[in-house]
Amino acid sequence: MRALRKQAAAPGLTLTDVPVPEPGLGDVRIKVNKVAICGTDLHIYNWDKWAAATIPYPMTIGHEFVGIIDSMGSDVEGFTIGQRVSGEGHIVCGNCRNCRAGREHCCPNTKGIGVNHPGAFADYLIIPAHNVYPLPANLPDDIAALLDPFGNAVHTALSFDLVGEDVLITGAGPIGVMAAAICRHAGARHIVVSDLNDKRLAIAQAMGASVGFNPLTNQLPKIMQNLGMKEGFDIGLEMSGAPAALNSMLEAMNNGGHMGLLGLFADSVSVDLNQAILKNLEITGVYGREMFDTWHKGLAMLQTGLDISPVITHTFAFKDYQQGFDMLNRGEAMKVLLDLD
Ligand SMILES: [Zn+2]
Ligand SMILES: [Zn+2]
Repeated sequence: MRALRKQAAAPGLTLTDVPVPEPGLGDVRIKVNKVAICGTDLHIYNWDKWAAATIPYPMTIGHEFVGIIDSMGSDVEGFTIGQRVSGEGHIVCGNCRNCRAGREHCCPNTKGIGVNHPGAFADYLIIPAHNVYPLPANLPDDIAALLDPFGNAVHTALSFDLVGEDVLITGAGPIGVMAAAICRHAGARHIVVSDLNDKRLAIAQAMGASVGFNPLTNQLPKIMQNLGMKEGFDIGLEMSGAPAALNSMLEAMNNGGHMGLLGLFADSVSVDLNQAILKNLEITGVYGREMFDTWHKGLAMLQTGLDISPVITHTFAFKDYQQGFDMLNRGEAMKVLLDLD
């Protein structure tokens, strides 16, 4: 089968031919139809500091996928051959305190599909049955391939009561713009999204943001004034990993506000924590998806009118993966799908 792999400690990926893997006990084999390229895949492609310290190679990458169950371990129950599924990209241990308490997203022994478990950018993927998520028939493949990053946005946004609240989202990458759509769907009032890329801001607005705001050319207090906001933001969702964005968010929050931090920072960050103390802010780190309430709520919103399709800007055939990675590296694409058929 075809598999897109990191083969050596250098930038780039190789489309290789490898044997089709056999599912073991508790495993499900999925014939992959479509995959999406994640920021994580781009880090691995570029072989940055994080990737070099994290990724064993050879490693088939990728964790955002949709496909059909094609084979399973003899002990797997509850699934059928031919069933269309996606799956959770984090494989948890099931034995630690958090796992046993139902907080699997906090498992300290988490393995990542396409990070340290062979990934989805291949004709066949094997994952534990626990990670497999069945899909409703009316959910298009293109959207189903995005459920993992969409879940990051769902988990972050739904960590807070959004109804009637004013929300600041820093970072209009795929997860930031999907978070804007979720906040709109869930009943937020003003949703302000900041980014340095105007094309991304336009997509954020198409997905429900009240205003897209470029800090290079505009001032946040001015935007708030134009919206008629008399106090700061109730909810802040940090999705950029940019220290300046985090600092501007701390400044713009209302007293008693809530902040969710999802964007990973490349280095340690200097912030004025007195803002958090004096404003009684609640700051929450958000990682992965709650298993599996995030999946349930995300799919429920997609089935009741939430539209995230504007986030998909390009689709390429699997063999043309290089074009997708190049476009993402040039900042010209949001979500890129690769079609394996
Ligand atoms: Zn991802
Ligand atoms: Zn665990």
